[in-house]
Amino acid sequence: MKKREPHYYRIRVWVFWGVIGVFVSLIGAAYFKEDLHDWWICSRGREEVTFDEMESELENKGECFLCGYSSQSLREQYETSDGVGVISLNDWYVLEFQGKGYGGADSEDTRDRGLSTTFGNTGEITYCSKGNPARGMASIEITLPDDYSLDSTIIQNNLCQECLDKIGESLRYDKWKNEKKEAVPLCMVDLKTLEIYSLQDWHRGCTIRDYWIEIEPEKGKMGIKLFSVPIKNK
Ligand SMILES: [Zn+2]
Repeated sequence: MKKREPHYYRIRVWVFWGVIGVFVSLIGAAYFKEDLHDWWICSRGREEVTFDEMESELENKGECFLCGYSSQSLREQYETSDGVGVISLNDWYVLEFQGKGYGGADSEDTRDRGLSTTFGNTGEITYCSKGNPARGMASIEITLPDDYSLDSTIIQNNLCQECLDKIGESLRYDKWKNEKKEAVPLCMVDLKTLEIYSLQDWHRGCTIRDYWIEIEPEKGKMGIKLFSVPIKNK
């Protein structure tokens, strides 16, 4: 019986090494996918995103949601408040910290030795607000929608230019040029002075009068803690 001859392929040297090269590159790319992605994100450097261009559409300054004198404005609604609040900018929903001396008698409150917890969903954000007035502590935890971004319609239509500029200033943030990152559509407000404070992810804390604020941003979440700092020599 005739012995079967083995078969061979003839292949050009550059094709052979070319195929091996492509193969090794593919394995490498799969293995270092995360690193390559990170490298791509950082490859064009950083940029600052600003909101200086927002123009107020409000005709009557007296109706401004922040500094105006209408029933909608924070100046009127929180006239007697000594507190601090968080504003959800896309729907202008204001959450006040349940710190010392206040803590609304909300029907949803569950009170236990002065502790209170309120949950809610504004349609835009979900929140959990806790207060411990006896200890002068309060916290608000906000969960943002997955694909959150700023919708400036309400603020442009209802804030005067001066207040809109203050909000715009608080929205500034840094990002990698290739990074997909949006402004967090939230800010903090001192309900006594109507000063605005940033809640972008670079901001980790500040003092507002006799309150110390700690901010813990997480992906899609924002945790804010308020502590009453007793003022000495008073
Ligand atoms: Zn205003």
